[in-house]
Amino acid sequence: MIIQLASDISEKSKESLIHFLRNEQYQWNEIRTQKATYLIALGKKEIDLRKVGTMPGVEDVFFVEGPYQLVSRAWKVHRSTIPLGRDLLIGEHQFQLMLGPCSVENEQQIRTICSFLKKHGVSIVRGGVFKPRSSPYSFQGLGLEGLQMFYSIAREYHLLIITEILNEKQIDSMLPYTDIFQVGARNSQNFSLLNALGEVKKPVLLKRGMSMSLEELLQSAEYIFSHGNENIILCERGIRTFESAYRNTLDLNAIPVLQEKTHLPVVVDPSHGIGIRRHVLKLAYSAILAGADGLLVEIHPEPESALSDGFQSLNLWEAERLIKHSKKILHLRGKIGI
Ligand code: PEP
Ligand code: MN
Repeated sequence: MIIQLASDISEKSKESLIHFLRNEQYQWNEIRTQKATYLIALGKKEIDLRKVGTMPGVEDVFFVEGPYQLVSRAWKVHRSTIPLGRDLLIGEHQFQLMLGPCSVENEQQIRTICSFLKKHGVSIVRGGVFKPRSSPYSFQGLGLEGLQMFYSIAREYHLLIITEILNEKQIDSMLPYTDIFQVGARNSQNFSLLNALGEVKKPVLLKRGMSMSLEELLQSAEYIFSHGNENIILCERGIRTFESAYRNTLDLNAIPVLQEKTHLPVVVDPSHGIGIRRHVLKLAYSAILAGADGLLVEIHPEPESALSDGFQSLNLWEAERLIKHSKKILHLRGKIGI
């Protein structure tokens, strides 16, 4: 059960609410987010919601069951739209493309990509400077200096940036140069990182882990939400299955099913989802038709010479097709009502 407290609830009203919950043998947690204060009350006995809802200092009360509550769809009529900065939104009826290289490599590469995105009306550029590579001998990213360069060029073109964070110690130094924090598949159950990002006033894109169930993904999102940050975007990026013909198995089922389970926006990363450049566009379009609220796609001016993930990165000609056709497919999605 989610009990939303009025912002001006008195100590006395709060005490009587807690006293009531205790009497009903309910456990409770107080959650203070950047938007509101909630009590998450868990218990076995059935409680008359009207009784709680009419207590002084209670703004609203919702019946929600299960291991995640605040990210659940059960207490929201509509799916959420998340403010990303600079009046940009993502969520229901607010589709966003996030395109850019796997890794930030140099000024020239970033300038080429930013000017391309600006020209084609894309507002968010992706790029990693701290790379979680499988081998410690692979390119690890340009680090903080690379991020500063990336951010300042992106701003010249009025673009927002999304970049991956690997651990909570990086938050303070990255904060001034980051618009959206990306939590990668390898970190999606790093609870100390998730808790720390709960305290940050910037949106977080949380990727699904390689062997993570949707319920586990939603519980990870609940960590961020319950530590204060309601601005969370979920990302399906493919899971590990028995199939070895492609890098990962993009789970398109996750899109409609997640959108029933949670009010948070769901985006799809088809690049890591299949890991084969010539098929990325097909999966990107399929993801839009399946209801995705956005796409995170790797692009590179010269994929053949990219320092990471070139084999799955679109070149700019392919990226142009993606931008053009995404609009058409979104329109079609609206028309046929899916
Ligand atoms: C990435 O987006 O470049 C990345 C490392 O993704 P993932 O965490 O999904 O592997
Ligand atoms: Mn990558």
